[in-house]
Amino acid sequence: MPPSHPFDDDKLREECGIFGVVGVTDAANFVALGLHALQHRGQEAGGIVSHDPVEGFNSARRFGYVRDNFTSQTLMKTLPGPLAIGHVRYSTAGSKGAAIRDVQPFFGEFSMGGAAIAHNGNITNADALRRELIERGSIFQSSSDSECIIHLMARSLQQNIPERMEDALRRVEGAFSVVAMTRTKLIGVRDPLGVRPLVLGKVGDGWCLSSETCALDIIGAEYVREIEPGEMVVISAAKGVESVRPFRPRPSKFCIFEHVYFSRPDSIIGGRSVYETRRQIGVELAKESPVEADLVCPVPDSGTPAAIGFAAESGIPFGLGITRNQYMGRTFIEPTEQIRNMGVRLKLNVNRALVQGKRVILVDDSVVRGTTSRKIKEMILDAGAAEVHFRIASPPTAWPCFYGVDTPQREKLLAATMSEEEMREHLAVDSLKFISLDGLYRAVGATEGRKADCPQYCDACFSGEYPVAPTDMIAKGFQLKAAE
Ligand code: SF4
Repeated sequence: MPPSHPFDDDKLREECGIFGVVGVTDAANFVALGLHALQHRGQEAGGIVSHDPVEGFNSARRFGYVRDNFTSQTLMKTLPGPLAIGHVRYSTAGSKGAAIRDVQPFFGEFSMGGAAIAHNGNITNADALRRELIERGSIFQSSSDSECIIHLMARSLQQNIPERMEDALRRVEGAFSVVAMTRTKLIGVRDPLGVRPLVLGKVGDGWCLSSETCALDIIGAEYVREIEPGEMVVISAAKGVESVRPFRPRPSKFCIFEHVYFSRPDSIIGGRSVYETRRQIGVELAKESPVEADLVCPVPDSGTPAAIGFAAESGIPFGLGITRNQYMGRTFIEPTEQIRNMGVRLKLNVNRALVQGKRVILVDDSVVRGTTSRKIKEMILDAGAAEVHFRIASPPTAWPCFYGVDTPQREKLLAATMSEEEMREHLAVDSLKFISLDGLYRAVGATEGRKADCPQYCDACFSGEYPVAPTDMIAKGFQLKAAE
């Protein structure tokens, strides 16, 4: 398993990436490539299920990176067939540092044949569903909330698997994008709010579904469209793409943080380049919170497009004042306490010649606990910078995400307990400014800003306004904003 690292503890972590292909020879090879392109969405483990008309269903689940597991010809030969789905995960629900039984896709055998599912998101009523299902005789194999979907499908009385999925997903609350397969069909579904992404692509005579468009590019697939919020597509060689709407229509609430941080910059979301959106966030940030300085410097790698936008708008030179050690991480020895204490220095190094004597604007995507920001500031000052100004490409992260993103408990979020000025003092920087929610909305293309009565995106981690009540967490004592 790739070692976790202190630097990564101070970021929100995307939960999963999902990918599926139908109608190509050796579909699992395509899925492995797609998962490799989605590796940023989950590095803990990955799995692939394939189906071949002769060999039936086969599966492989492994801890670690896709490239370390699903490049072995010996393994890939065990996953034959023209239909396959896959999943990369960083656990959100289920046990952390999980057992292999928690690694998706999950598989269920039904009277009409088998089905496998891979889920991106988080089911907010999973505890209640699990209790109910266990009371009624279901035997769970994993600690993952996603397994509820298989058990709900098993209890459905519908005569085919897509309709059983519809039944199951109508019982599920929260955020879900699902890629599933039967013996002959590839199925994709997004929850009614469309919180998590899912796109459709065309590859040769076949079709594919992916969390992001960057994974279509790697297999040479053509981007067709996004799966709409609340839409289910059932894809087969015989009938092509059929679309159904199993849920009551509701206003879309796509995760705005996908634009800021989770998605890869070379992906397209809502017809917009993620890179361009992030650059535009930097432009908005420079308009909202200008400061006199000599250098705009990104915190690599995710702060880079916003820093480019900030520099362009402000007219202050852009420079790579911090270099990221690309080879840090998996190849490094299991960190000892002494090595751990080196923390951020293991991954980032300051370009002393560039920052010395300069007033430096550091552009980062977010501040979560603030531990990394503090260390980076110290490194920049140690290298001789005259001033350090932080500009953050998202509003203060003051609330946890319950929709499939790993966030610390609320009290661990710096912005949950401190005002902007208190955070500035805590980080001991010359200035600290976050983009406003309206500024972020403008940057993602909502020119009129955020509609307070019906926000166009999910922004709960900034606003505390949860578009789906986090039922399980409320039962465990979580206090919603209005109840504070
Ligand atoms: S709470 Fe934040 S991270 Fe979670 S889905 Fe909403 S915008 Fe995305």
